[in-house]
Amino acid sequence: MLTYTYIEKGKFALVEKPKPKIIAPTDAIVRVTMSSICTSDLHIKHGSVPRAVPGITVGHEMVGVVEEVGSEVTNVRLGDRVTVNVETFCGECFFCKNGNVNNCTDLNGGWALGCRIDGGQAEYVRVPLANQGLNRIPDSVSDEQALLVGDVLATGFWAARISEVTEEDTVLIIGAGPTGICILLCVMLKHPKRIIVCEKSEERRRFVEEHYPDVLLTPPEDCKDFVLKNSDHGGADRVLEVAGADDTFRLAWECARPNAIVTVVALYDQPQVLPLPDMYGKNLTFKTGGVDGCDCDEILRLIETGKIDTTPLITHRFPLSEIEEAYRIFENKLDGVIKVAIV
Ligand SMILES: [Zn+2]
Ligand SMILES: [Zn+2]
Repeated sequence: MLTYTYIEKGKFALVEKPKPKIIAPTDAIVRVTMSSICTSDLHIKHGSVPRAVPGITVGHEMVGVVEEVGSEVTNVRLGDRVTVNVETFCGECFFCKNGNVNNCTDLNGGWALGCRIDGGQAEYVRVPLANQGLNRIPDSVSDEQALLVGDVLATGFWAARISEVTEEDTVLIIGAGPTGICILLCVMLKHPKRIIVCEKSEERRRFVEEHYPDVLLTPPEDCKDFVLKNSDHGGADRVLEVAGADDTFRLAWECARPNAIVTVVALYDQPQVLPLPDMYGKNLTFKTGGVDGCDCDEILRLIETGKIDTTPLITHRFPLSEIEEAYRIFENKLDGVIKVAIV
């Protein structure tokens, strides 16, 4: 079967591999009907994910049809349409029981698919611990509607949840790429008083303006003043930093009011400085990412009932055989791309 494979730092390629087989009784084989490209794939390509294993098939955002299940898989049946979770988790260890599935202590726990084991930019994928890693897609929900559930939308949902957003809050979201917009959609479900989105690309600001007209928008250079002017207590009550640029971590805590929650979802290419003397007395609470992707059933229900719609984010579609072109467009942010569907 055709796969898109991490060869070495800086190089992915289309490679033929044998179709995956069930290895453990908790495995399932899923025929991938649609996958997507995530910024984390680019992080692997650029060598900034040290645990990524050369030779693995990349891709960790996908939906498909269950083709084969191991003897202990009870959550899904052959022929079910499913979303695949970016995270593999056992559901039984200390961290899983506390909802911190990203820190699952299983050998394959956490982000394994498309990083440490073969992922979903391929025709088929083996999903370990499938009882936890697969969620059935409701019949009325299309593949495109469900495509982002297992990763980027799960991240948005989780980030909005841990940020403890209330209806009194001014929420600042830094970065309106795919993850930032998914966070925006999930923050909107909490009905805060104001949402400010800071984004440097004019094209992406336009996208937000067009689709979510109630959101306030600012470019990074005006962000601090804008937030000060458009908040009630000298800064944002909640800040979600998604951009991961050189100076956005600083921007995030600078725009926060005293005692705010700053949630850092971004995956940085470089270490960041936490200048405690500069922020002394601000009494901030920092929360940091990796997503705990254990709310996928709830997210699918929100999609089914029309409360979340990520389909406007899917701006481009390519067959797997043309995935290199899809990467070129996604990586260089060409042609107004937000997300690409590989079909
Ligand atoms: Zn991802
Ligand atoms: Zn676990």
